[in-house]
Amino acid sequence: MAENNEYQVIIIGSGPAGYTSAIYTARANLKVKLFEGYASGGQLMITTDVENYPGFPEGVTGPELMDLFRRQAERFGVDMEAVDVTKVELTEGSPFKVWVDDTVYKADAVIIATGAVAKWLGLPSEKAMQGFGVSACATCDGFFFTGKEVCVVGGGDTALEEATYLTRHCSKVTLIHRRDELRGSKIMRQRAFNNEKIEFLWDTVVEEVMGTPDTGVTGLKVKNVKTGEISDYKTDGLFIAIGHKPSTDLFVGQIDLDETGYIHIPDTTTTATNIDGVFAAGDVRDPKYRQAISAAGMGCMAAIDVERWLETRNA
Ligand code: NAP
Repeated sequence: MAENNEYQVIIIGSGPAGYTSAIYTARANLKVKLFEGYASGGQLMITTDVENYPGFPEGVTGPELMDLFRRQAERFGVDMEAVDVTKVELTEGSPFKVWVDDTVYKADAVIIATGAVAKWLGLPSEKAMQGFGVSACATCDGFFFTGKEVCVVGGGDTALEEATYLTRHCSKVTLIHRRDELRGSKIMRQRAFNNEKIEFLWDTVVEEVMGTPDTGVTGLKVKNVKTGEISDYKTDGLFIAIGHKPSTDLFVGQIDLDETGYIHIPDTTTTATNIDGVFAAGDVRDPKYRQAISAAGMGCMAAIDVERWLETRNA
């Protein structure tokens, strides 16, 4: 531990963005503290096979990938702790203060990499089948459903984008929406309506996911919310696309967030937030790409931005 809990950089969050920024800042000889959170590793810890992370031609599991990131950060002497940050004080400027319960830590610069979480329907069967045919990421898992029939839940741009993407792999994609009108933008709606592989199940909610980890998803119990009728719908997979929630509760009132709660980056060619000396990387600031590789890339950018910011400050 550093003297008086004082660091040049504190990184909050331990997905691909957090670990990558830790590797880069530590290799730049900065004194770095990484708060990993109790559930370290982020969204990849609930991802089974990752086949699109470059450098792993045979694929890698999400937890394995995060373990490799962590070990690489460890090798460069990053001071890591698997605890949750409970409070931050950023508005008074550098040095910033970060608390874990009653213990206060200080840093010249802060990198926020707390990520986001996919919203789920909250069904026990949905949770039991996560990684066995239930997913919240078509780009990550669509390939595993090549030639199969899948369902997508949601009516916003994410659901429309995921459904359209899945038609590249799947023989049929059914979009299940709880109303009879889509929320998504006109262009995305039109693209989905024009796609012959996409069918729509309106006014419908999923009540249960059928199947076991051995069989994979075999079907859904669905309910028509207008008639109350419950029926079985055969499918090989289920993609939940009802939105993501950025993990920014800690930063409310401390830093500018956009209207959906993501950290606002005034100039997106950098990772700087509206607070001088505070940077953000990964899904916590990115509702668009949300990939491990793009988060890692932003972690690298944040580390380089911090390094340069510290240099100009000390010049
Ligand atoms: P969203 O716009 O909030 O849409 C969420 C959808 O999920 C809504 O249709 C909602 O139904 C449905 N939903 C929410 N909770 C549900 C539940 N418990 N059960 C069933 N359905 C539920 O979220 P999003 O689609 O992730 O988009 C978020 C933002 O990112 C939007 O501003 C969007 O435009 C943007 N985005 C843009 C792009 C792009 O431009 N390429 C791609 C993706 C996202 P209701 O409609 O009934 O509320």
